[in-house]
Amino acid sequence: MSLVNEIQAMNPVYNKWYMDDGGIVGDIELLQKVWDLIKSRGPELGLHLNASKCEWSWLNPECKLPCPIRNGNVDADQIKLVPHAEIQMLGVPLGSDHFVSDFVSKKLLGRLSATVDKLVDFEDSQAATYLLRVSYSIVRAVHFMRTVPLSQWVEQAKTFDSMVRKAIEDILGCPMSDLTFAQASLTPKLGGLGLRKTVEHADLAFFASWHESQLTAHETWTPRADQPKSYLPQKQASFNFDTSMHAYLVDQAPNDREAQRLRRSAQPHACGYITATPSSEDGYDTVMKPRIFRVAVLYRLGLAVIPEPIPCPLCEQPINVFGDHATCCAKSGDLIVRHNAIRNLVDNIAAHGMLAPVMEKKGILGPTSGRRPGDVSIPLWSQGKGLAIDVAVTSPLTLSSVRLPEPCEEYAVSQKHKKYDLSFEGTEYRHGVRDLGRDQRGRPGRAPLPLSLCSKAPRPRAQLVLRPRLGPPVLHPAAHGFPVDLDSHRWPRVPRAHARCSSCQRLGTHPHHCCLSHHPIHPHHLHDSPHCHDYRT
Ligand SMILES: [Zn+2]
Repeated sequence: MSLVNEIQAMNPVYNKWYMDDGGIVGDIELLQKVWDLIKSRGPELGLHLNASKCEWSWLNPECKLPCPIRNGNVDADQIKLVPHAEIQMLGVPLGSDHFVSDFVSKKLLGRLSATVDKLVDFEDSQAATYLLRVSYSIVRAVHFMRTVPLSQWVEQAKTFDSMVRKAIEDILGCPMSDLTFAQASLTPKLGGLGLRKTVEHADLAFFASWHESQLTAHETWTPRADQPKSYLPQKQASFNFDTSMHAYLVDQAPNDREAQRLRRSAQPHACGYITATPSSEDGYDTVMKPRIFRVAVLYRLGLAVIPEPIPCPLCEQPINVFGDHATCCAKSGDLIVRHNAIRNLVDNIAAHGMLAPVMEKKGILGPTSGRRPGDVSIPLWSQGKGLAIDVAVTSPLTLSSVRLPEPCEEYAVSQKHKKYDLSFEGTEYRHGVRDLGRDQRGRPGRAPLPLSLCSKAPRPRAQLVLRPRLGPPVLHPAAHGFPVDLDSHRWPRVPRAHARCSSCQRLGTHPHHCCLSHHPIHPHHLHDSPHCHDYRT
């Protein structure tokens, strides 16, 4: 630092350092002085000049003179003369447009294509999608987005974006329309896959970086003509962009179902299965089988999961190509399997939080009532009262729900609270509904309250964070344990006829419910395996 200050005292035009990497602009005489200073004083501070790694450039592009500073007499030890058009600092190309675009091409696109191809070859679609998002998509380009004006590398940015688009299409095994990819490009929070396009976000990143650098440098710079006056951090600017894009997509939606799908995909935590690290370190709760993951993502993006509409093999109601009915068929044991899995999870979390939960508590509405509105009852919740939590599995995409702004709250009010609340008067319980299957937002003063209250519970009580989601669909009519002739119904996911449970070696859709008690929210048994988390097809 003292050395940097001493250089500054000579009044150079520019004197900036990043660690041991410095750039100084000044006249020849000044630079010679700086060179001598660093050479004589550097070593005692641990800074040893390596002339062959230093660069000299003339700011006058026409000047072709050699570097005026000599370092001994050996040619290999001389300072490298870099032409004006090829100047770069800290990995940022500053030279001619041609040089800049070449530079970005080489650094950004160079080996990426081969790496991304390898990703596409992954058998594990979930891991491939995850890696694409966190390691090989826009994050690769952020350095250039923040340091090089997009106008200098717009072609490379377009190539990069189409590479990412092709990769996700190949991983999911389905081509996407521009509108579908526009959704995939949104942040997962807003219903996308987090594969933002560099051409859409590069300017936002550059302007944010411009403001931040100006602040860091304690200088005042002249802004570009197209630059927004006020400063927005990159994260906020990109989120604002995505929010407008999401609104545009909802606006463009061809029907109510599509608009509702887009809105519900953007509910808090609906992206959980996209952003969770697919790791089996703590069990298999975040790991999805490739075809299940693909179907779940197609469902989220509003793409067909079966080739043509078919009647439900269980109740004869039509299943559209998006598989909507399969998520809420009342005949299928799926609904019960999922209800129970979520009920068990709630119970599990409450038990870990020492809340002494009781599942399916009998006689909650008095000794005479046979009704059991509390899937999980917590005897002492708050203000001396207990809490009865009711789990309901619904779908926001059914004909009756598709236009409702809050389909699940609506369901909770009309189906649950209306039915049970009066009966709870005078009991030791408050009644809350968790509409966990599809989506849910506990609003104070309105319908369901319970789990949102949990966050207020003092530790070590449970913090239940189950939230609304347009989650993976269940397209498995055999999930309740009796065999269905899947092949004849053209379900998109058909287990092999002689699949064996790797835990107990029993064939196919065996009836034991081990995982329901041990691994209550396991995605495999929720969405694929009938009963066992080790079930392999
Ligand atoms: Zn059905």
